[in-house]
Amino acid sequence: MAESPQTDNNAQARSEWAAARRIVVKLGSALLACRETGTLKTDWLGSLVEDVAQLAKQGCEVVLVSSGAIALGRHSLSLASGPLQLEQSQAAAAVGQIGLAHAYSELAQAHGLTAAQILLTLSDTEQRRRYLNARDTLLTLLQLNALPVVNENDSVATTEIRYGDNDRLSARVASMIDADCLVLLSDVDGLYTAPPDKGANARRLDLVTDITGDIEAMAGDAGSELSRGGMKTKVEAAKIARAAGCNMVIASGKRMHPLRAIAEGAPCTWFLAPSDPVTARQRWISGQLEPKGTITVDAGAEKALHSGRSLLPAGVASVAGRFDRGDSVIIRSQDGRELGRGLVAYAKKDAERIIGKKTSEIAAILGFAGRDELIHRDDMALHRQHRNDRGS
Ligand code: GLU
Repeated sequence: MAESPQTDNNAQARSEWAAARRIVVKLGSALLACRETGTLKTDWLGSLVEDVAQLAKQGCEVVLVSSGAIALGRHSLSLASGPLQLEQSQAAAAVGQIGLAHAYSELAQAHGLTAAQILLTLSDTEQRRRYLNARDTLLTLLQLNALPVVNENDSVATTEIRYGDNDRLSARVASMIDADCLVLLSDVDGLYTAPPDKGANARRLDLVTDITGDIEAMAGDAGSELSRGGMKTKVEAAKIARAAGCNMVIASGKRMHPLRAIAEGAPCTWFLAPSDPVTARQRWISGQLEPKGTITVDAGAEKALHSGRSLLPAGVASVAGRFDRGDSVIIRSQDGRELGRGLVAYAKKDAERIIGKKTSEIAAILGFAGRDELIHRDDMALHRQHRNDRGS
């Protein structure tokens, strides 16, 4: 695979790696499980845990988000290759997760660490009380110098209530515990301008400082056979991480000691977070909730939002999706840019009747007096540009 030469940008990114004190590392199934036999790649995992132990010695706190339960379990249960039904993958996860936990426990012990297993379901991050509870457990484990190993609780999560892929789950975990850095170990060493196996001119980006439409287009759709996420879910993860003020790096996990390699300047793609402080509530709104719809605002409203105002129905051009009052929605500009996310004060059926209208008309149109704002500024988290934006 072609590697673009090291640039100054990457040198800067490495200093951000050195400065990171709380790191979340996501390992995908394709790295953990052998494609042919479905068994765990213990040597590779051992080298990763050794890197974690080294980081811990340097004073870093590390949380692992590990896939692999379904990939390992389906082999133990002799399930045929190809897509599994939901019940089969839940059964496979129930078997595979035991093996995974056992392996982490043994490997951690061998390097003087204590592994702890946390299995999360979507409601653990979407409901604020459960979110705070899960966060406390993770922070307590870190305080006690344990190594938390997180996965989705695949055996109980149904299609409608799943995170679905561990790229986004790891970003939510990073946001939840206020991590400095999220590492996505992948079978490619970063984000390419075109699929690296297809385009001869495909170039790896060293640095991304804003998730533009071009970046989303580069992400495409493809994932590998064993894992759910492709580059698309990694870019989604970058949005969540950046909104939480957390840097993210996509690096190759197809080498031994993949974390040490990052410190040594191996090729990778860094997504830098804007440096403005983010409130805990904004982080929760932008990072933990699945958006149920989209609200497209006009140019005047876009300007008003950037100057810190609430979103009034008058500034909305259109609404889409199926949302209820209090649901999370994406706020878009008329040219399709994602401006941020917020909790909407009206259900879709009411919102469509009041958009473009003056606030004073709301009560007469709906027959009841609701809030003046469609999204109050306290319920909004706008995406920010990286302060020192050098493009991508
Ligand atoms: N949670 C799934 C597993 O452990 C993996 C999801 C993913 O591949 O992103 O098998």
